[in-house]
Amino acid sequence: MKYHLVTLGCQMNKSDSERIAAVVEELGYVVTEHEEDADLIGIVACSVRQAAINRVYSKIHKWNQLKSEKPLLTFVTGCILPADREKFLKLFDLCFQISELPELPAMIRQYGVPTPFSTNRAMDPAEDAARLAAEGFEALEVDGHKIIAGRPVMMKQPETRIAGFWDITPHYQSRSEAYIPIQNGCDKFCTFCAVPYTRGREISRPSGDILAEVRRLVGKGYRSITLLGQNVNSYGRDKPGQEMRFSELLEEIGKFGETCGERFWLYFTSPHPRDMQDDVLEVIARYDCLAKQIHLPVQSGDNKLLIRMNRNHSVQDYMRIVNAIRRLLPTATLFTDIIVGFSGESDEQFENTANLMQEVEFDMAFVARYSPRPGAASSRWEDDVSQDVKKARLHRLSEILRQHSEAHNARLLGGVYPVLVTGRDRKDGYLSGLTEGKINLRFASDDASFIGQIVDVEITRTMAFALEGRLAVAGSQSPEDS
Ligand code: SF4
Repeated sequence: MKYHLVTLGCQMNKSDSERIAAVVEELGYVVTEHEEDADLIGIVACSVRQAAINRVYSKIHKWNQLKSEKPLLTFVTGCILPADREKFLKLFDLCFQISELPELPAMIRQYGVPTPFSTNRAMDPAEDAARLAAEGFEALEVDGHKIIAGRPVMMKQPETRIAGFWDITPHYQSRSEAYIPIQNGCDKFCTFCAVPYTRGREISRPSGDILAEVRRLVGKGYRSITLLGQNVNSYGRDKPGQEMRFSELLEEIGKFGETCGERFWLYFTSPHPRDMQDDVLEVIARYDCLAKQIHLPVQSGDNKLLIRMNRNHSVQDYMRIVNAIRRLLPTATLFTDIIVGFSGESDEQFENTANLMQEVEFDMAFVARYSPRPGAASSRWEDDVSQDVKKARLHRLSEILRQHSEAHNARLLGGVYPVLVTGRDRKDGYLSGLTEGKINLRFASDDASFIGQIVDVEITRTMAFALEGRLAVAGSQSPEDS
């Protein structure tokens, strides 16, 4: 029997999908790229944009038509707003929070669906009902040999449920790059964002589990590991006195990196400026395995707009952190997220953002045109900046970014830098990869054995957002070494 999984949205959802794949493959399902061939179809939804929600509705409409041709079970999970959840419950067979993933096998059984493994044994309804009751489901009706389909009622507390989810060993999509969720939910309530309403309040994963996952991945040869969370640097604050702070978690990983004998880079995304203290930067400076790359969303360069966004930090706070990064991590690249055309953004407020970009000189910025996100507080406010103005503002920031990226990359010319080789490049005879600072690079080579390895590359050509080079010969130096 086969399953098909559609993942919408951010890296967090992609990481969640790796755990979903592990659970359904444990039941004996085999993945298929073709939804028409699947017996089980799931979608990991994203509520960030209405377009993503519309995609869920169009998919389920098609899948429900497929049901007239063959038996098919459908499920939806991910970031779902309460209003959509009500509608999804009527359209999908199963609708569950990602923290309820460990119960998915029981939900499928509750639906009376034989899984590939269960078809090899006679089903005992009484035994199944007792097991499901023990797993926290409401009592089930039994009709002959089949359990009546019914919606599962989750009895467990959120903390217990998410712990079970984290215990699942994911089926990682890559053999060299992996993502480790370290927390779930968000307490910040930025007015443009719906995450606190879809994923709930912040819960930190036990540090022992995170460290074990890092050790396991490094032992298997993973070279790039990213700690994931909506607010990674507020890690542990929901469990004061019981759990490490984020800087202490990084310190433990740093110490492991010093002694494990393997080369890897550890990243994290996304931190919140409000919780960014120097102790985090000082730890990164101390350990080679903690990558010198910081992604710190600013969203706007105007204090009044930052208040309207409920970001709880000022431009001055942000600049204090940028200066600390430049002082403590002089080789680090700096990435950010910016929204243009937020509700009420005046020309002058946008100019403040452009000025901030000029001052900080980001290596990369993910600039988004504002669109109201259903469920977020700002969706009740007028979306009063025209599309043309939003486009022009995005274009202006993109040009500033391009100039800074071009200038920064030019400084790397002639140097030798370690590069994680991620795959074959589109250009024949080239491999592509990422520097420690996550700058895209390609170099001439046909040797696929380099993929997944960190190799030294001499930079021979630079441009905005990309580098080109050749494999370095022993003894070459980077400009910083000389
Ligand atoms: S910090 Fe703000 S933008 Fe990030 S997940 Fe929380 S509410 Fe959303």
